[in-house]
Amino acid sequence: MNLTAKDTNTKSTEEIVTALADLTRYVKEKSPFYQRKLSSLTVGSDFSIESFKKLPFTTKEDLAANDLDFLCVPRNEIAEYVTTSGTTGSPISLYLTKSDLTRLAKNEHDSLLLMGNTSDDLFQLLTTIDKQFMAGLAYFLGVQALGAGMVRVGPGVPQLQWSSILKYKPTKLIAVPSFIVTLIEYAKENNIDFNNSSVEAIVCIGEPIRNEDFSNNILGKRIIENWDVQLFSTYASTEMGAAFSECTAQNGCHLNEDLLFLEVIKEDGTEAAHEETGEIVVSTLGVTGSPLLRYRTGDIAKVYRTKCSCGRSTPRLGPILGRKNQMIKFKGTTLYPKAIFDLLDLYREVSCYKVVVSKDQLNNDEITILLEDKIANSEVFASILEECQAKLRVIPKFDFLEINALRAQVYKKNLRKPEKIQFSE
Ligand SMILES: [Zn+2]
Repeated sequence: MNLTAKDTNTKSTEEIVTALADLTRYVKEKSPFYQRKLSSLTVGSDFSIESFKKLPFTTKEDLAANDLDFLCVPRNEIAEYVTTSGTTGSPISLYLTKSDLTRLAKNEHDSLLLMGNTSDDLFQLLTTIDKQFMAGLAYFLGVQALGAGMVRVGPGVPQLQWSSILKYKPTKLIAVPSFIVTLIEYAKENNIDFNNSSVEAIVCIGEPIRNEDFSNNILGKRIIENWDVQLFSTYASTEMGAAFSECTAQNGCHLNEDLLFLEVIKEDGTEAAHEETGEIVVSTLGVTGSPLLRYRTGDIAKVYRTKCSCGRSTPRLGPILGRKNQMIKFKGTTLYPKAIFDLLDLYREVSCYKVVVSKDQLNNDEITILLEDKIANSEVFASILEECQAKLRVIPKFDFLEINALRAQVYKKNLRKPEKIQFSE
């Protein structure tokens, strides 16, 4: 791929300062929330990246408390009403103007280019485009901006997906990766020659497909071991109205510097250096409806600051390791539940498990893994212990329960999702 200088070079410091000053001035003038929050601030000629980094953070709680407080335009200028999925609390609404929709189109356009797509591609959209969901709409706009075509099949219904793939011959799919597993199963059961289909690559949204070392995780493997397609990972959220996307080198998801200012904040409050881990904090650039300044996403990832082998020098994010509020401090190491889930998911014999995090007398976290009793004296358990030592570098406690008692702990009647982790006092 030939990259122009504009693609390979990061923004100049001057350009970044201008973008941040514009954002700060704009929200301070237009948004009731920031009018209050930044009332004593003046953005003068001495404004710098350093002074921006001293401004207060915006939290999810701030946004959830009153999302209309962030609105910077009169109601009649709102073109789109979107909401977050509410996976971590109640849904938050964000308000997009017409120019925000153009920004959204640019985001996916640029992301699709990063992945090596062209106007000759035909995309099939396997996610919803309605229900106030941003990603489906964003990809629709991005594909149009790219000059490519789209078949909007929407979520679910494997039979319909396959009849569309066989009829229209899309080259790329945009999907939640776990649904691709369902699609493969359906194709196998119905003798569809999926490995000779038109599909070359899948843009994966909403779920991670990579391990920390960028190899495919269990989900990613389940797809590519069956289906000869390329997978591209993305990381996005409704709040940032932009995505971090993998390039063809596939070693981290690139920041789009035209749309976001990224900070990765370590636990001690300082900025994460190359290959260090921290919380992703974003400031939205060019947003006119509900712009956000120093927004704490709560997502933890490793940041890569060296030049990528694709030629671009924008920072890249590794896979999301967990949520900030799910961090476990255990015997001197920091762990996220996902690391334990990934380890246990490797064992077909482990059909059900639960991780309980509690505090000991010294207020340190203690991890207990609940497993089915038949595992207790098996070779599988010995292997799990070895894997804990190798991958987590610590060995948690184990408790063994009769399978029905264990299931009752995981599949609770009042919860929609299985409770695989529990934080108790
Ligand atoms: Zn790259």
